[in-house]
Amino acid sequence: MHGPTIKRMARRHPRPDHRPGAASPRPGRTPTYRRQKRMRLIALLLAAFAGTASAAACGPDQLNTERTITLKREGAAYGTNQHAALPLQPGEVVLTFDDGPSPENTPLVLKALADQCAKATFFLEGQHLRTSPDLARREISEGHSVGIHSDTHPHLTQLSPEQQLDDLARARAAYKTVFGVETPAYRFPFLEETPTMLDALKQANITVASIDLGINDWIPEDTTDILAQRLNASLDKAGRGIILMHDANGPTAKALPTLLKVLKDKGYKVVHLEWEPAP
Ligand SMILES: [Zn+2]
Repeated sequence: MHGPTIKRMARRHPRPDHRPGAASPRPGRTPTYRRQKRMRLIALLLAAFAGTASAAACGPDQLNTERTITLKREGAAYGTNQHAALPLQPGEVVLTFDDGPSPENTPLVLKALADQCAKATFFLEGQHLRTSPDLARREISEGHSVGIHSDTHPHLTQLSPEQQLDDLARARAAYKTVFGVETPAYRFPFLEETPTMLDALKQANITVASIDLGINDWIPEDTTDILAQRLNASLDKAGRGIILMHDANGPTAKALPTLLKVLKDKGYKVVHLEWEPAP
């Protein structure tokens, strides 16, 4: 894949260590170091080309995105864990990712999704929106949708109503600072709902996004095989619905190409959730 192109490009750039009359290597700049540096550059070029190629080549080999559901900006609630089901057919799933953006892991998730032409919804924490605004904006620019997932991921059931509303206000403000509009959707941390928060979200026309199935992906020791087995079992049980995963979780980010292959191999179709533009 693109081997000849890469080689041609690499040759076109003069290598610093082959420059005629170049000064003798600085301490630490051994031939091995320079070779490693060159390899890293080639790897970067390969990665860039792979991204371009897959984005341009969404076809039958990819998981793809079958259709989009555009929800109204209203205080509705979806996800059979706690609420009504989304209007999904058997075999249709919605991909959702919580707790990011994570500079270490979210880029891997975005790459895996782009490689499979699959669109997802990210539920971001306000505290991470403030530290990684560009990564959050990248999620939108790559065609995904984005909501909030609290500010600091507290157990809301253990907070006073004032503290709960304060966490919501801070997360909404972080979202508005980064994206310029109000968040259309909210996912409760630990899926722990409170009457105070449900009221506030309804009044603000923010959709509550619960889940239909998950893969319990929060244990650092989880392997790709274990996560794939859990996804398999959850899909066999639910048959459709909103899937909860965590883009901030290292094992999930690493496993995602395999998890998306599980979906593809089992014949599942990806439905993308969007919301109407803010008024
Ligand atoms: Zn979470």
